[in-house]
Amino acid sequence: MNDTALRRTPLDPWIAETLGVALTELTPAALEAFQLQRLGATLDWVCHKSAYYRARLAPDGRPPRLEELSAMSRLPFTTADDLRAHGGQLLCVSQDEVARVVTLQSSGTTGPPKRLHFTRDDQEATLDFFHHGMSTLVGPGDRVAVLLPGEVAGSVGALLALALRRLGVTPIPHGFLRELPRALEVLQREGATSLVGTPVQALALARYASMRGIRLELRTALLTTDHVPDAIVRTLAREWGCEVFEHYGMTEMGLGGAVDCAAHAGYHLRVPELFFEVIDPATGQPVPVGTPGEVVFTTLSRRGMPLIRYRTGDRSRLLPGPCPCGSPLPRLERVRGRLAEAPTRTGPGEAPEINTPALDELLFPIPGVVDYRATLRRGPSRAQLSVMALSLRPDEALIPAVEAALDGSETIGAAWRAGRIAVTVATEALGDRLVRGPEKRSLEGLEVRDGE
Ligand SMILES: [Zn+2]
Repeated sequence: MNDTALRRTPLDPWIAETLGVALTELTPAALEAFQLQRLGATLDWVCHKSAYYRARLAPDGRPPRLEELSAMSRLPFTTADDLRAHGGQLLCVSQDEVARVVTLQSSGTTGPPKRLHFTRDDQEATLDFFHHGMSTLVGPGDRVAVLLPGEVAGSVGALLALALRRLGVTPIPHGFLRELPRALEVLQREGATSLVGTPVQALALARYASMRGIRLELRTALLTTDHVPDAIVRTLAREWGCEVFEHYGMTEMGLGGAVDCAAHAGYHLRVPELFFEVIDPATGQPVPVGTPGEVVFTTLSRRGMPLIRYRTGDRSRLLPGPCPCGSPLPRLERVRGRLAEAPTRTGPGEAPEINTPALDELLFPIPGVVDYRATLRRGPSRAQLSVMALSLRPDEALIPAVEAALDGSETIGAAWRAGRIAVTVATEALGDRLVRGPEKRSLEGLEVRDGE
C-alpha cells in the first residue's frame, strides 16, 4: 500500500471542529487539554448528581481536581458489578429526561442486569460519532446493510440508520442475522455496497454466498460488537474483494468507541466523548503506552449515566506514535479477547495459553468453518480442550482439518504431543440458520482437579 495515498481519518476534521481548532492545530497536546477540561466537568457533574459517585469520589463534598490526565489513576474504578448493584444511584438525571434504557443481562450470570440510561443528547452524541465514523468507509450513493438489531428507536441499528442518512447513504435495515437465505436475498435485491455486522455473521454470509455461487459486490464492510479475527478479515477481502474496517465499542461507551482508518493500523478513539486508559488488571495501575492490559474508559460528555474509569474486561494496548494516515488521535490496538479467559492458567509450563483470539486464527481459515464453541478444562498437570466446529453443511473433512490446525499451532501442538493437553474435536452442521446471539465470544474456561 502506498502511504501517500492513505486517506486521513475523517474523525480528524470532526474532532478539530469539536475542539474549535484548525486541523493543523489538532495536536496531542490540544487533545489532552480538551479531555482534561471535559473530565473536570464530568467529575463535577457526577459528584453533584449521583449519590453513588458523590460517596465514592467526593466524601468531603469536594469533587476531585485534576492537574493532568494521569491524575485519573488516583480515582476508583467502576466495574460491571458496581453497575449491576448500584445502577439507579449512578443516574444523574430525572427519569423523564431519560430517552432510552438498555438492559444487558450477560449470559451465565445471575442477579440484577446492567441498565444503562441515555438522554436525548447522549444519543445525539452517538449519532454524531456514527455519522463521522461511517464516513471512513462509505459515502453518498452507498447502500449499507445493517445486520444489527434496529427495530426499537434508539437501538444501535436504528441510530446507525439515522447516521447513514445524514451521510447521504441509504441504510438497508436487516436486523441481527439469523436466516442466511433471507439475508443474502435482501443484500442482492437492495444492491448493498457495504455491510455492518459481527465478524462471525459476516463470515457465515460470505461462506453461504460462496456455497451458492453468488458473489456480493461489496466495496467495504464494518465488523463490530465482537473482537475481530484477522482470518475473517482475510476471508471477506478474498470472497467479496472488499476493504474491511473495524469498530470497537460497547453499550456502556454509548455504543461507539473507536474505528480504524484506511491505514488499518489500530482504532482511532472517540476522543470527544471517551477518555481511555489501559491498566494492569492485577495491580490496577496504568501501564505505559504500548503495553497490553485491560481497557478502561471514562465518559466525557454523557449526561444520563456517566461512567468513571469503567473496567471493560477487554485486553488490548494503546499504540505509540501517530497513525500512518497522519492523524494525531490516540489509537487502540485490535482487542485481544477477554480478561476473563486468562485466569484459568494454573502454573508455568503446565498448559498452553489458549484463548479465543488464538483459536480464531487457527480455526477460521479452515474452509467451511463458520463458527465454533470451545471449552478448556485445566487441571494441575493436564488440560482438556474440546472444540465443536460449526459448518453450514455436514462435512467429513472438517474434523481432520481442525485437528491438523490445532496440531500445527506452536502452543497447542507441542503440548498435545507432550501429553500435557488432550484435545477432542466434534462438528455440527447449522444448516441455513445461525444460532449465536450478539454477545462477545469467549472461551468457556473451567478449572478442575486431575481425575475429574
Ligand atoms: Zn489513521
